Amino acid sequence: MTTAVVAPFRFFSLHVVRTRRLGPSLVRVTFAGQDLEHFFSDGHDQSLSLFLPHPGQSEPRVPHELGDGWWQAWRELPDGVRAVMRSYTLRALRRDPDEIDVDFVLHTPAGPASAWAAGAGAGDRVVLLGPALADNRAIRFRPPGDTDLIVLWGDGSALPAIASILESLPAGQRVRVWLEVHDAGDVQELTTAADAEVTWVVGAGSVDALREARLPAAERPYVWIAGESGCVKALRRHFVRERGFDRRRITFVGYWRQGMNEEQLRAAE
Ligand SMILES: Cc1cc2nc3c(=O)[nH]c(=O)nc-3n(C[C@H](O)[C@H](O)[C@H](O)COP(=O)(O)OP(=O)(O)OC[C@H]3O[C@@H](n4cnc5c(N)ncnc54)[C@H](O)[C@@H]3O)c2cc1C
Repeated sequence: MTTAVVAPFRFFSLHVVRTRRLGPSLVRVTFAGQDLEHFFSDGHDQSLSLFLPHPGQSEPRVPHELGDGWWQAWRELPDGVRAVMRSYTLRALRRDPDEIDVDFVLHTPAGPASAWAAGAGAGDRVVLLGPALADNRAIRFRPPGDTDLIVLWGDGSALPAIASILESLPAGQRVRVWLEVHDAGDVQELTTAADAEVTWVVGAGSVDALREARLPAAERPYVWIAGESGCVKALRRHFVRERGFDRRRITFVGYWRQGMNEEQLRAAE
């Protein structure tokens, strides 16, 4: 008997194939690379760690050839040399040819990742730490099998995850969605077979809109909330304290925090 053990995550060396502006503050970057034949994902809110070069570097510096020792070696590289690491979501995976899409918010003030995405062009190189197993722990959207209502909330950073989740849901599944985007031009056509109602909020105000919303009666609801971490915390509290939802049926993830870059957010959490 032979037993093959596949590590759930691995590094992928990728390059940009093309970019497409989806709206005033959203850009889609399509990546390819030979390694993608080993990339597998069940999608949903599949998160990825993206390593990006600094301006002037031709590729990101990540000592991934060191295996398990890469993290320490990466941390020890000098600032300004060490690749910038940021979290993003798999928006789409296609085969023949192997390609993945990642949708970036172009925010102000721009951080290194949004600045990189704004200027990305064909051939630009990145490194990705991503899934080699389709079902992996970087997929957090996990509604229990008996769920009779799904509630989703997100801002622009969670729009790729929500769009993918909606695409995966079956006909008959009741879903209520609140999405907050910077600009009316960022509103997208979303595809789903589910019985979904989507409320778009342009600018601020989606947290209050959801707090005040009448939700359909449900015995076993499931809530997924991701985006700015102050909003995420406020909404989780609202669902637990004011609506009496079971906290085990709420998935919540702070994707970014006002006034903090991702390193500071990781250190704070
Ligand atoms: C699991 C996960 C999945 C994610 N998926 C996506 C995704 O698919 N697409 C996506 O665009 N983002 C996504 N994000 C959020 C993204 O990682 C952060 O927005 C990240 O901070 C962007 O890096 P940066 O270098 O541009 O900005 P940073 O250097 O990290 O921050 C610089 C400044 O910009 C502010 N800022 C950061 N993000 C935003 C924002 N979205 N809007 C307004 N201001 C911001 C910060 O508060 C800070 O003041 C995800 C985050 C997580 C944890």
